This record gives sequence, structure tokens and C-alpha cells, in this order.
Amino acid sequence: MEVVVTNTNMIADWCDTLRPVPRENYPPKMDNSAEDLERMCYEKAKRMYGDPLPEKVKARLERELGSIIGNGYDVMYMIAQKLVAKSLQDGYLVGSRGSVGSSLVAFMSDITEVNSLAPHYLCPKCHYVEWHENEGFGCGADMPHKTCPKCGEPLNQEGFSIPFETFLGFNGDKVPDIYLNFSGEYQPTIHWYTGELFGHDHVFRAGTIGTVAEKTAYGYVKKYMAEREMEVGRAEENRLVKGCTGIRRNTGQHPGGIVVVPKEVDIYDFCPVQHPADDPNSEIITTHFEYHSIDENLLKLDELGHDDPTIIKHMENMTGVVAQNIPLGDPDTMSLFTSNKALKYVTDEPDPILGDIGCIAVPEFGTKFVRGMVKETKPTTFDELFCISGLSHGTDVWLGNAQDLVHDGIPLKECICCRDDIMNYLIGKGVDPKLSFQTMESVRKGKGLKPEMEEAMKKQDVPDWYIDSCKKIKYMFPKAHAVAYVIMAYRIAWFKVHKPLAFYSAYFSIRAKAFDASCMVLGDTVCLDKIHELQAKERDKTISAVEKDMMTTLEVVHEFYHRGFVFEPMDIYKSEAKHFVITEKGLIPPFSSMPGVGEQAAQAIVEERKNGPFLSQEEIVVRCSRVSKSVVETLASIGALSEMPTSTQVSLF
Ligand SMILES: [Zn+2]
Repeated sequence: MEVVVTNTNMIADWCDTLRPVPRENYPPKMDNSAEDLERMCYEKAKRMYGDPLPEKVKARLERELGSIIGNGYDVMYMIAQKLVAKSLQDGYLVGSRGSVGSSLVAFMSDITEVNSLAPHYLCPKCHYVEWHENEGFGCGADMPHKTCPKCGEPLNQEGFSIPFETFLGFNGDKVPDIYLNFSGEYQPTIHWYTGELFGHDHVFRAGTIGTVAEKTAYGYVKKYMAEREMEVGRAEENRLVKGCTGIRRNTGQHPGGIVVVPKEVDIYDFCPVQHPADDPNSEIITTHFEYHSIDENLLKLDELGHDDPTIIKHMENMTGVVAQNIPLGDPDTMSLFTSNKALKYVTDEPDPILGDIGCIAVPEFGTKFVRGMVKETKPTTFDELFCISGLSHGTDVWLGNAQDLVHDGIPLKECICCRDDIMNYLIGKGVDPKLSFQTMESVRKGKGLKPEMEEAMKKQDVPDWYIDSCKKIKYMFPKAHAVAYVIMAYRIAWFKVHKPLAFYSAYFSIRAKAFDASCMVLGDTVCLDKIHELQAKERDKTISAVEKDMMTTLEVVHEFYHRGFVFEPMDIYKSEAKHFVITEKGLIPPFSSMPGVGEQAAQAIVEERKNGPFLSQEEIVVRCSRVSKSVVETLASIGALSEMPTSTQVSLF
């Protein structure tokens, strides 16, 4: 009694009750951030639209800046602006994720490429502006080409028509999240740069805590019982499982989350720090507390890694084309969503694997699921592409919902695809704007419709199918996210049509998982055999995750052959470590595309061959550290060493 109850209570009484973390929010400060943001926005706006600004541009900027600066969010904008500017300066595009593209201020400060204004023509020379709101165009890029009536220049087609409310809420006071997609290979640089901005001892990776899952806990309990030959009832077993579930198991870090501590305070005012996963040699330092427990105190930046910017950078390097200058109105690129003619296959015969559309390996549209949607909906406009992107990322938005509506003849554009659609549509129907916003929020969170919402919709003659559709939705994408992703995807698709070898090189080098040179470079017949073998496994449900990845890659390889391209032999002097080299007729695979050849070994060969040719296979092993005999044998088996003798001595005689 004394040990267990009395003394423990006594010790507890000695201690004061205290909170482990403060209650207040400590956002980082930046000198003149409000003034800088405002100045930057008006500078770009005037550069684009002329001075004085058109009324619509001015009004939206004023309204947004009012709520952004009024709520103190200008610092977040300026941080994002600096990060994006640094990445662009180093040659890597940045994709915006989430709803930040709904903000015109984000566009004018270069945080996003998405211009959220209504569709309009804009003359790059004399600033002539012509608005086309509520005329059925979902975005400027879908309007017909036109020349400036004032000066004869071809007009730019701007505007993606996204309301600001999706980002900052109806009163402009919702705490914004700015998520940015940096190139995966550039991500370490941008994380380091964040440290440069705020001090390396004030910037930490957001820590995560892995806990024991119910299944694992169940395993623990079972094993414990078995080892002790104990038998307990079901209820006791469940009680023990419950007790173990959720216990801390290991630590890690958020893939892109960076926690920023302002200058005036110290990380230890909030939490201890550590190396993740108990690894004292790790260079990464994370917050000790799981970042959610301090996210009301400290700003977390989301600097994620993504393949699209890396792929674009590599295609730019290989071709000299600047991706940002690619026009959104290229008919051949758009045709990939209804036909594969633009890819100029070597035969006109229908191919069961490739089908009759051309968007294999195009991000957002390349998976079987989305290709199915594309086939059913036959999109010919950007607006429809945004719809498909929105539909494919939502939950209970397409299957059992919009899919049936499209079957019944409702045009894709009228279906609910992104959360913004709801607010825009209801306001257009005459529903009170605030209630329209609340309806959008309720539906996108999967909460369905409140009676007053449904009543207001019925009063304004909103059709029953629309109301039903709202009730089924569990989660929805913001349009700004769909637009940002589709713009990137479209550029990549442009390369697929016009610079195919750069496209396939980037795809195989960066995106493709499970590229296996031991079969894929041996011609279309070998490839098809492999595809059929894996298809059989898919039918028997014995296909592994790696084989599924391989299947996706094989489809792209099959298309590559179908366009008349070839893989040239791997070559000890011409192949690169990781990237596919472009030749006149095709690609030379890199060393690391052979299973069993690691990236470090591949890199070692590339480095060492600069010091002169290899006389024998033995010499490769001797001269290149990290290259084993088996690596050399693997390379010889695929013909990468041509006639090179096994041993140098033999060649002397
Ligand atoms: Zn003009």
C-alpha cells in the first residue's frame, strides 16, 4: 500500500500541473513581409495587365491582400515565394498542391502558375483585356484563338476561374496551407535553403511517431500466450490487444514537413529534438513530439518531393525546350485523350494493350482506372481534363456517382468534379453565396447536405440528380490542385508527342519502377510474352507488387516499340549510370537498368572509364571500387562489354 499508493500519490502531489507545450502560436516573422508581398503583386499585375489595372484584377487583389495581411498570413506567402524563386532560379519548376492556386495573390507572387481569374483574353503587347465570364468556357485555354483587335498581336488566353474562398474560407480567415511540390532530386537543396532563411538551428524536420497497429498487437498477444502455453477467452484477448495498440514503436519524419521556429524563441520551448529512427548517425534532426501536437504553436512548411518537376527538368535539358513556354492550345497534344493517331504507331491495327487513346505514361491520366474514365468521357477541353483529375482523386465522386450520370447523358462539365464546382454552380443558380460556400464545405468533407441546404437548392430548381450526387460524395479535390497537376501533365504529354525520345528517356530514367533491361530491351516480342505472363498472374491473383509495377513499365516499353523506336545495346563506354541516353533511333539503357547492378557500381564505372579503356573484364573489377565480379558478368551477359576478354593475361598471347 505504501509503495504503490501512498508514495506515488505523495510524489504526484509535489509536482505542479504544467503544459508540455505553450498555448500560443509563434509564427516566424519577416521584415516588411506585408509591404513586400503587396509591392510584388502589384508589380507583376501591372507588368501583365498594364497600369491602371483592369477593375476585376484590382478588386480581387485588394480583397485578397486585405484578408491575407489582415490575418497575418503574409509571412507564409513570402516564405513560399522565396522557396519557389530559389527553385526556379536553379532551373526546377515547382508544382503547387492543394488549394493555394485559388489565390490570385499566390499567382502574382509566383507561388503558383494557376491564374484564378475568370476566363479572358489578354494582349501581351498593349494589355487589351476581354472577359468571357459565364459563357460556358471553363478556362481561358479553352477559348478559340484570337488576335488583338487593337494591335493585331495573338492574344494570350488566361484564367482558370477559381474562387478565392476555397483557399481562405468565406470570411478570408481560414488558416491557409501552402503545399509545394519540388523536384525530388532538388528537395534536399530546398530543405537546406529553408535553414539558410531562418537559421539552421531554427528549422527542423517534422517528426512522426509510428505506433503498434492492431494487427501487430494481435500478433504480440498470440505469441505471448503461445510461449507461455496460456489460454484465455476472446474478451481477454481483445482487451490485451487494445492495451498494446497505439503504443509508440518507432520514430520517423514527415516526407516534406519542415517546422520553423521564430528567432525570438527556442525549439526547446516547445519540444526536445532527436535523430529519427534511433539512428545517431542520421543527418536529419526532427521534433521529438509528433508534429501534430505542436502544429498550433509552430509553422509547418510542406516542401514535398515530386517526379513531375524532375522529369520536366530532364526533358528540358535534353531538348532545349522551355516547358513554361509550351502553349496550352496544342491540338496534337490534346488529341491524345481521344486518339493515338498523333503518336504515329508503326501499324494501324488496333492494339489490345495500348487501346485507342494515347495517354499511357502521362501523369494523372496514365493509370488503367483513369484511362478508363478518359475513354468513357472523351475529353476535348482543358475544363474536362480538370474534371477527370478531380473525379479521379475524390472518394465516391466517380464510381457509383458521376459515372452513372455520364452514362445517362449528363455532360461531364455539369457533373460535380471538384469542390469549387459546387459553390460556383449554386451561386450561379441563385443560392445565397454564404450558404453555397457552406454547402461546398459540407459536401467535400463527406457530411452530405443539411436540411436548409437541400431546401435552398430545391427552391432554386437545382435538379434532383445534382442533390443526390452531393449526398454521395465523401471527399473532393480542390480545382486549383487539379489545374496545377493538369498543366504539368499536359506539358509532359506535349513532349510525348513532339519530343518522344526525351519523353521516354525521362520516363524510364525517373518515373518507371522495375525497369528490367534483362527482358525489356530485347524487343517487342519478348516484352509481349512478359506482359501475357503477368496478365495470367493478374487473373490468378498471384501477381506481386513488383510485378504490377513491371507491368505498368512494360506497357510503356511496348508503346515505345510501337512507335518504331529501339533500345540500342548497353555499352560499357556509352551507357550512363542511371539515365537513358538518346540516339538517333532510340535509347541506350543505363547500367543500373540491369537487375543486380546497383547505382553506386554503375556510377563507379562511369567515373573510372574517364581514365582510359578497360582491357579486360578483370580490369573493370580491379579499377572500379564497388564493382564486383558478378556485376561485370551481368553486364557481359547483356552484351555491354562486346568482345572484351575475361582476363588481361589472355589478351597478351
Ligand atoms: Zn494588343
